[in-house]
Parts: sequence; C-alpha cells; structure tokens
Amino acid sequence: MALINEHYLKLQAGYLFPEIGRRVSEFINANPEKKVIKMGIGDVTQPLVPTVIKAFHEAIDEMGKSETFKGYGPEQGYGFLREAIAKNSYQDNGVAIEADDIFISDGSKCDTGNIQEIFGHNNKIGICDPVYPVYADTTVMAGKTGACQDNGYYDGIIYMPCNEENGFIPELPTEVPDLIFLCYPNNPTGTVATKEELKKWVDYALENNSIILYDAAYEAFITEKNIPHSIYEIEGAKKVAIEFRSFSKTAGFTGTRCAYTVIPKELVAYGPEGDAHPVRNLWNRRHSTKFNGVSYPVQKAAAAIFTEQGKKEVTEVITYYLDNARIMRESLTEAGYTVYGGVNAPYVWVKTKNNISSWEFFDKVLNEANVVGTPGSGFGPAGEGYFRFSAFADRENVIEAMNRIKKLT
Ligand SMILES: *Cc1c(COP(=O)(O)O)cnc(C)c1O
Repeated sequence: MALINEHYLKLQAGYLFPEIGRRVSEFINANPEKKVIKMGIGDVTQPLVPTVIKAFHEAIDEMGKSETFKGYGPEQGYGFLREAIAKNSYQDNGVAIEADDIFISDGSKCDTGNIQEIFGHNNKIGICDPVYPVYADTTVMAGKTGACQDNGYYDGIIYMPCNEENGFIPELPTEVPDLIFLCYPNNPTGTVATKEELKKWVDYALENNSIILYDAAYEAFITEKNIPHSIYEIEGAKKVAIEFRSFSKTAGFTGTRCAYTVIPKELVAYGPEGDAHPVRNLWNRRHSTKFNGVSYPVQKAAAAIFTEQGKKEVTEVITYYLDNARIMRESLTEAGYTVYGGVNAPYVWVKTKNNISSWEFFDKVLNEANVVGTPGSGFGPAGEGYFRFSAFADRENVIEAMNRIKKLT
C-alpha cells in the first residue's frame, strides 16, 4: 500500500488568493459595468527590457547551430553568469563573495523551499509573522511541525511577530531557532532592516550557532543610502547566513525564471558529533543531484542585466514601480491612512481605519472603490488590521485607484 507524506495533511488550504479571486469574480458578475483595478498580486507587469530580449534571441540562435549548440550546462550555473553576479552584485559593493559561492537556480521560491532538506530534522525554525507563506509551508512538508492551530500558527515553529511597535523587525526570540528566515526589503510589509538591526541578528546567530536564511528578492528596490543590500555587508555574516536573490522582481523574470543562492565557504553546520561541515558542499551535492541547471538562453538573458545598457534599462523599470509606490504612499497618507513601506520596496502596507479587519477593508475597497488589494491577515495573524497594495501596476491604474480610494468615507 502506497502511503502519502502525512505531513501534507497538516497544510492549510491555500486560502488567501483563491478567496480574493472568489470575491472579485462575484463582484464583477454582479457589476459587469464597473472597471476593477487589481493591485493585489506580487507579480510584475512591465515587459522584459530590450537588452535582455536581445541576449535571449542571440542565445536561442546559438542553440540552433551545431558549432554553438549547448547541451547540459553546469548544474551550478554557467561561469559567465556566476562571475557577473559576484562582481556586480557583491564585489563592486565591497562585499567579498566569489563566483563559486553562487548557485544559479530557477527561482528563490524553490531555493527557500528546498534549502531545509540539507539541514537536520530536529532544527527549530524561526519565521516572521506576517510572512511570505513558502517558508512555513515547506517546514510543514518536511515534517518539522505539529498541527495547525486556529490562528494559523503551526505547532513547533517559532513565530516572530513584526508590527508597528517593533518597526516590523522581530524581537530576538528567547527560544533560539536553529534556522531563521528573514526577508528584507520585506514582502508583505515593504519595510527594510538597517545595518544596526541586521547586525543584531548576525550577532545572535553567531552566538547561538544558528543560520539566517536571508531572502533578498527585493534588494534592487532599495533607494535609501544606509540600508544594506546584502546581509554580507554585516561583519561575520558569511559565517552565519545564506542569501537568496532572484531576477524575478529585479528584472521582470517571474515568467522567465532565474535566481541564485549564495553560500559562503565559511558557513558551517554541525554533524552528530559536533563536527563542522561547510554547508556549501551539501547544497552543491543536492543541486547537482536534483537539478540540471537553468537553460542557457535564460542565463544569457540574465547576464545581460549586468551590461551597462542592461543596468540602465532595468533601473528605469524599477524606478517606474517605485514611482507608483510613491504615488500610492502619498495618496493614502493624504487620505488619512497610516502607511508603511513603499520607499525601498514595491509594497505599501496600510493600516485600516477605525480598527476594521483586513477582510472588511478588502470588501469596502472592492465594493466602493472597485480596487483589489491583499488583506494583511492572509500573511499571518500579525497582519490583521493591515492591507497590502502592490506597486506592480500600470501608472494610469495606480492614479485612478488612488483617486477612488481618496473618495472613500
Ligand atoms: C517574489 C518573491 C520571491 C521570488 O521568487 P522566484 O521563485 O524567484 O520568482 C522570493 N521571495 C519573496 C518574498 C518574494 O516575494
């Protein structure tokens, strides 16, 4: 008799986006004449930039000629891309990361989900609330939790609430997690961590032999000078942190798929006898056993982002989204809302007025302004009373949506 991985039975049904979809369809069916503006989902809307498309086409042409055809590439990624990342994303900013610390993959979602399998079953996992759901769900799938409680918390996970009081940076937990997921700039709150705040976490991890799993998917949106782009800007971080970055939000690769994970050689975890092992070697082994690399044209397209012209074009797109975020922030503030994020991230995190719940606010904004956002409570209990607007949208729609929301009473 074939048995299932019973831990899957503990997973809560993906409720948030299906429920949003259901309410939106119901509204559209009842009001077919209304123009609904969607600012809910975290997916990019602008096309790939010309320099990326050109490199993509050229690489496809290479695949069509016997002299330049490529079969399997290196599982860890082509040298040209790993070197371009090491230089442009790290070394040029004074961070000593080498090309062979970098593993190219088809997404940070997969990497943040898969990383746990190289760590022991008994590790305690620390996760922020509110949060990107992948970290908790993959912890459940790995069998590291008990059942889900009524508030959506799984037994066995160390939850770290992020709220107005702590500036959306969690307190150092008293029960020490072995693996700690952090994401800055943050999805969903759009907030960032300063060097001082990150240093506190790096020092805590050093003291406890914990490892920080640092999701920097929105690094390219950082505009303020004193905000670290990489956790490795913090002294000692190479001993305690894995960094995940993606071309998805940086360069519109959500449908093209390319990302990378950085594991410095200095980073170790421990065997049963307290024997230290470089984590990089385990991930290298996993990657080369279970993954056969990202396609050559996609890696060529990704490398084009680091050319002079590529950088310029990608920056223009990011500026476009950040201008949307600024318009949203200013309009919502003018309308009397307390607003977080949107300065170094494409998300604006809004506190509802009069303490109404996230879902009540969702219905109000949908019914009265015909705008769709995401209820904060869908990202965890600490998100209750908040609402996320995404700046991944067309400018005209952003302006119109904000004008409608300003008129709400
Ligand atoms: C969008 C996003 C990613 C990127 O995932 P990909 O699989 O690379 O597309 C990673 N982390 C967070 C928090 C995100 O919002």
